[in-house]
Amino acid sequence: MKKVILDGKIVAQEVKNNLMERIELLKEKGIVPCLATILVGDNPSSETYVKMKGTACEKIGIKSIRIQLPKEIETEELIKTIKELNMDEDVHGILLQHPVPSHIDERLAFEAIDIKKDVDGVTSAGYGQTALGFSTYPSCTPAAILEILKYYQIPIEGKHAVVVGRSPILGKPVSALLLNENATVTTCHSKTINLPDILKLADIVVAAIGKPEFIKGEWLKGGSVILDAGYNKGNIGDIEYDSCYTVASAITPVPGGVGPVTIAMLLKHTVESAEKHLL
Ligand code: NAP
Repeated sequence: MKKVILDGKIVAQEVKNNLMERIELLKEKGIVPCLATILVGDNPSSETYVKMKGTACEKIGIKSIRIQLPKEIETEELIKTIKELNMDEDVHGILLQHPVPSHIDERLAFEAIDIKKDVDGVTSAGYGQTALGFSTYPSCTPAAILEILKYYQIPIEGKHAVVVGRSPILGKPVSALLLNENATVTTCHSKTINLPDILKLADIVVAAIGKPEFIKGEWLKGGSVILDAGYNKGNIGDIEYDSCYTVASAITPVPGGVGPVTIAMLLKHTVESAEKHLL
């Protein structure tokens, strides 16, 4: 069987190439797209993610503002910072890096982000719009998964997609996006019984669990398409790559699969938000 490695670096580059011209056009009209990232505390992985996002912005001409807040900060102070960014005309996108320290009400903080600047798709209003199929900015990882499928012209309509994970920023919105594309969607989670039996029926598998090498190749149907959103310590995904590779017709690697496209979608949403200033 011919196998396709779904190369996220190629897809991300394509997205970024398309953005560069749009960024130049915006600049000619006096608008510099700008993403503000907020990092609370000093979690090394979060620091790396925020840095990567900032660098990706700068590389294609998007301004990046990085706000680092001490880990002791209270929810109210964090919300105050978000509200200031909401009011700032020069900021087009706001990203609050997940997770924040446990004493902070992360959901309340996400909800403080103006939906017009919610380029990371974390607000409940944004999720509601995603579910109804008219979201401006769906969460970036779900958007990346759809972008990969579309780039490689993998049919979605009528296919059985099994999403493993139901988090608000990944499993649930990617399930909604696949449903909007007319897939038949099963969303699994930690209370799902007989997960391998369900996966055996899947044409498309999305792994969004947060457990290294959790999904095994022998659980899958031959010829299935596998998108591994997982990113665990040591650059390991949520699927057991070697055994899944054997049965899959197409598969994303980790790293270099969903991750780079997620960042590209964040850039795309920020540019789209900046373009709204021209309307
Ligand atoms: P999360 O909030 O921890 O959610 C994990 C989900 O997996 C939950 O819905 C949980 O079910 C489910 N789950 C846990 N154990 C399970 C089991 N034994 N069987 C079936 N389902 C199980 O994680 P997340 O934020 O969605 O992230 C998931 C993964 O994606 C992580 O590896 C993360 O690093 C990665 N990620 C990658 C990107 C990227 O850009 N590539 C972006 C975001 C996240 P319950 O709901 O029942 O608890």
